[in-house]
Amino acid sequence: METEELMEKAVKFHGHECPGVTIGVLVSKYILEHGMDFSLDEEIVAVVENDNCSVDAIQALLGTTFGKGNLIHLDYGKNNFTFYNRTNKKAIKLSLKNSSFGGRDLPREERIQKLLDANPKDIFNIQKVEFDPPQFAQIHESIICENCGDPTMGTRIKEFKGKKLCIPCYEKLK
Ligand SMILES: [Zn+2]
Ligand SMILES: [Zn+2]
Repeated sequence: METEELMEKAVKFHGHECPGVTIGVLVSKYILEHGMDFSLDEEIVAVVENDNCSVDAIQALLGTTFGKGNLIHLDYGKNNFTFYNRTNKKAIKLSLKNSSFGGRDLPREERIQKLLDANPKDIFNIQKVEFDPPQFAQIHESIICENCGDPTMGTRIKEFKGKKLCIPCYEKLK
């Protein structure tokens, strides 16, 4: 797919055109082209270190989603994107070199265009990495919260004064 097509698809999903979604498109394009033989299914796992606009492009174009358990968000506030192929165990990491790439003071349209025209290697540090994937899409037994009665994934249950509580109830009662 051409960049233009990818942009269109990502923008449709994301709702607006912005530098963030453009960065996600460039990341996705790189992975699609240098794809470590990805089949774009559950074999690919994306680990993103931010939850900004760029992640929408990755969901739309690479099919890594929260629901499938192959999109993992680490809340580090960094523009780092790691992709892991579960079949051949290879991983590749793209890190944005400079978050103001393209110039923050440029009009949005110009900045987007500058990003689209650039060589990915000027925008990202790209490296093969060792990657130990976390466990994916695990089904855990539910435990009933003793306060609200909601069945809750066991790993999310907290103990407080001898009661097993879901996170919202724990936050309320602690
Ligand atoms: Zn956006
Ligand atoms: Zn509860």
